[in-house]
Amino acid sequence: MNQILERIKKHYPTPTLELNFSNPFELLVALVLSARCTDKLTNTITPRIFSKYPTPDKLKEANYDELNDIISSCSMHNTKAKNLIAIAEALCKNYNCEVPKSIEELTKLPGIGRKTANIILSFGFGIPAVGVDTHVLRMANRLGISNSKKAEVIEEEIKKSIPEEDWIVFYSGLILHGRHICKARKPKCDECFLNDICPKIGVK
Ligand code: SF4
Repeated sequence: MNQILERIKKHYPTPTLELNFSNPFELLVALVLSARCTDKLTNTITPRIFSKYPTPDKLKEANYDELNDIISSCSMHNTKAKNLIAIAEALCKNYNCEVPKSIEELTKLPGIGRKTANIILSFGFGIPAVGVDTHVLRMANRLGISNSKKAEVIEEEIKKSIPEEDWIVFYSGLILHGRHICKARKPKCDECFLNDICPKIGVK
């Protein structure tokens, strides 16, 4: 595990998300929109949302049809529009119109699961956390870090096996590597800096 961690840190030294945002609220909105939608497409939609609804206070007053129209190029836009307004209402009702800083509170928000909550904690607030998305899950299996298919189990196994200060840089590196090299269908093992130490579990 040490070797994997060191190489991930060397190649992806700065924790990075491919979504554009400038505060925890914008990150929350971007993450809701990006579910089953590429970050690239999400980044084309969010500037309009951020300028029209810059705060939870403004977003909770959004007209559903208008918001739904703005995000209509996103998959599941009906549900996302509904959830965004409900999230903004919950933020204002329960958290003084601010994004809460705990996994327990974040996962109480409509449509927000553990993965999204962990990404908000780490990238919105700099709080050590491990967000397990489809890329992290797949890579954890292929690299032999975990044989579980459950995101929560993998999250705990990663947390136990590396120092807390490396949690964010590690999972963020796995997301990037999974997106660009260790792809779901055709992993580019020939181009991969982990090739000589990766057991390639389940790779055909
Ligand atoms: S060697 Fe192949 S399977 Fe292993 S991490 Fe790299 S791309 Fe993924």
